[in-house]
Amino acid sequence: MELVVIGSGPAGWLAATACAEAGHRVSLVSPDPTAPWPARYGAWTRELAEIGALATLATHTWPTVGVVCDRRRQVDRGYARVDGAGLLGLLQGRFLKAGGQTVRGRVVGVRAARHHDEASAPTRVELDTGGSLSADLVLDASGVPGRAGGPEVRAWQRAWGEELQLAGGVTPDGLRGMTLMDWTPPSPRWLARWRERPTFLYAMELGEGRVFLEETQLSASDPLSHGELRARLHARRRRLGVLNGASVVDVERCALPMLLAPQAIEPGVVRFGARAGFVHPATGYSLTWSARQSRRLCAALEGVGARRGEAAAAPVRAALVSDPRAELLTRFGAELLLSLDGPASVAFFAAFFALPPSRWSALLDRGSPVGRRIETMSRVYLAAPASIRRRLRHAAWRDRGRVSAALIGRPNLREVSR
Ligand SMILES: Cc1cc2nc3c(=O)[nH]c(=O)nc-3n(C[C@H](O)[C@H](O)[C@H](O)COP(=O)(O)OP(=O)(O)OC[C@H]3O[C@@H](n4cnc5c(N)ncnc54)[C@H](O)[C@@H]3O)c2cc1C
Repeated sequence: MELVVIGSGPAGWLAATACAEAGHRVSLVSPDPTAPWPARYGAWTRELAEIGALATLATHTWPTVGVVCDRRRQVDRGYARVDGAGLLGLLQGRFLKAGGQTVRGRVVGVRAARHHDEASAPTRVELDTGGSLSADLVLDASGVPGRAGGPEVRAWQRAWGEELQLAGGVTPDGLRGMTLMDWTPPSPRWLARWRERPTFLYAMELGEGRVFLEETQLSASDPLSHGELRARLHARRRRLGVLNGASVVDVERCALPMLLAPQAIEPGVVRFGARAGFVHPATGYSLTWSARQSRRLCAALEGVGARRGEAAAAPVRAALVSDPRAELLTRFGAELLLSLDGPASVAFFAAFFALPPSRWSALLDRGSPVGRRIETMSRVYLAAPASIRRRLRHAAWRDRGRVSAALIGRPNLREVSR
């Protein structure tokens, strides 16, 4: 097939490379196709290994991660900092070798055939350069907000991160290893505000006196400003003794679209990556899921045969929704997290991480089947204190239509963002 992939973020490059290697003619369009990705990515080593080439993808790995809720726990699950530049270089090399081409330009319009009997006609992709491309199928990985007509975002994850070179090259004990979540309030001065609008610390010890610290608001419909997140991180740094004397080597401003409103179908176009809601609505991760979805995309394209345009897009879109029931449960859980204040977040994650990783990973892995998710949710419920159980019951009752559809019935596919 003749494919046009819009966007050169991780999702665009992963999809374009997989499709080119599967034998399709692929054009990747972006204002700057070889620009480095701005974010730094972390991932579970197990998930990275599943997508291959772990050795070239990780700059740092940790065999366990720390989680601080009611107390500090060391969770037995490997974590890695992904070498974004290395991954981008690897994908670009493989893409070009497989015959893919990059096109510099911003997509300003996508024109699919208008009449039903033309559903198999090629789609035109118009560029700001005045040129256009013809595609049997368009993959839109332009991110959020991305190209015009982007989805409505219902919840964001915001974070303020700083990579520091510590004075004397010495890392304090509290920042050793990798901390996935430290729900301790930033400082006593922030306690009241933190109780209402909780944030946590995500921290990585990078060696030779370097650390990466990030103050993160997990998910909120009205997120905190980056200014407040920065102030909280600095209060935390003061408490940890790494404010003065440490130099800021790099800054990361994070804004992730965690929950998207259901989107109308765009004829001849399949959305991919953050644009398609691949960002996990409870964690913010998407990299390894985009990689796994790329494989699924190639498998779906195999089945398309001679169909083109919307006739090809419809089955591919359907193949990328792994399990609508599981997706509905994930969204239910994500919306519940939006409602938790500071103490409730601590209690919820204490119950969550008290389970063995083989159990809780079912809720973090986008691909896990609905049965495993239900089982894990039940176990979190049983392990949680009475106050959290009450909230869970209320939330399930309020959202009973969707919860029962997810548990037993046939969910409405329009509920699942595509
Ligand atoms: C600071 C930060 C930290 C993150 N950390 C992690 C992490 O640790 N682990 C993890 O798994 N995920 C992480 N994420 C989440 C997720 O992986 C990223 O959001 C990811 O970049 C989404 O990839 P994407 O390719 O779908 O979209 P994007 O990366 O947003 O890429 C969109 C691309 O589309 C292009 N584009 C936009 N409009 C047009 C147009 N009109 N025409 C052509 N091209 C266009 C853009 O130039 C860009 O190249 C993080 C995100 C951020 C922002």
